[in-house]
Amino acid sequence: MTRGSRRLASAVAFVLVAAACGTSAPPAPAPPAPPPSPPATTASSPTPTPQVEHAPAGFVRLRDVDPSIIEEVRYATPHNFTGDPVPGYDEPMCVVTQPLAEALHAAQQQLAPRGYTLKVYDCYRPRRADERFVAWAEDVGDQRMKAEFYPGLDKSRLFADGYIAARSGHSRGSSVDLTLVRLPARPQRPYVPGEPLTSCTAPAAQRFPDNSVDMDTGYDCFDNLAHTDAPGVTGEAAANRNLLRDVLTSVGLKNYANEWWHYNLPHEPFPDQYFDFPVNSAAFR
Ligand SMILES: [Zn+2]
Repeated sequence: MTRGSRRLASAVAFVLVAAACGTSAPPAPAPPAPPPSPPATTASSPTPTPQVEHAPAGFVRLRDVDPSIIEEVRYATPHNFTGDPVPGYDEPMCVVTQPLAEALHAAQQQLAPRGYTLKVYDCYRPRRADERFVAWAEDVGDQRMKAEFYPGLDKSRLFADGYIAARSGHSRGSSVDLTLVRLPARPQRPYVPGEPLTSCTAPAAQRFPDNSVDMDTGYDCFDNLAHTDAPGVTGEAAANRNLLRDVLTSVGLKNYANEWWHYNLPHEPFPDQYFDFPVNSAAFR
């Protein structure tokens, strides 16, 4: 018997047995599952995966809502009152709560036809950054950036005068520091650490050449002249402050009277929570 005829005979015999029983052929038994393969191991101990700190639901990147708003996140750079990039700002990116992003987008839509864009300086701020500010404020010996940011104020007054707080509304994600820029936005040279500093209260032509409109002081200028309705601010600068305030007020934001650049969302989604996730892209993956 050849192999083929033997297979045919077996098949015929099987069909006959099945027909005699009056049942259909049972399914062939499944082969036993192979044992699970052991996990791949190496001789060295496994590398720990870095812990990614995700942004909570309700936070967004401003650029995902309105990419036309200019972002110059100062605390991610050395161009701020401490003179160093601030912990927690891993990337120069504006993160805010969703309703604040939508309010800024609505403001931008009003401003663009009038020839302006918003430019944000600070948005959500991790708690660790405020902790750094507090440590910096207590270190009265560090006066590196005094000439630009607090030329007329003793460093020991920064807390008492409300310019620095142990806990900031920025850490709740619903505060923003911002200004206006005329369109088309002029290019702006980078700040060079160690460059000679000019007072934030000096005339615009002498201050650091920010491409924003003249608000009569630079950003983060710890001086009475930074009060939104400071009596010494008149003419074009006063008009610019009022334009920023009028537009932002119309979309539901509220100004902090001691800083022309600071606005917050009165009905914020996290009124009692201070967050600490870092500002970086991984927080949104
Ligand atoms: Zn602020």
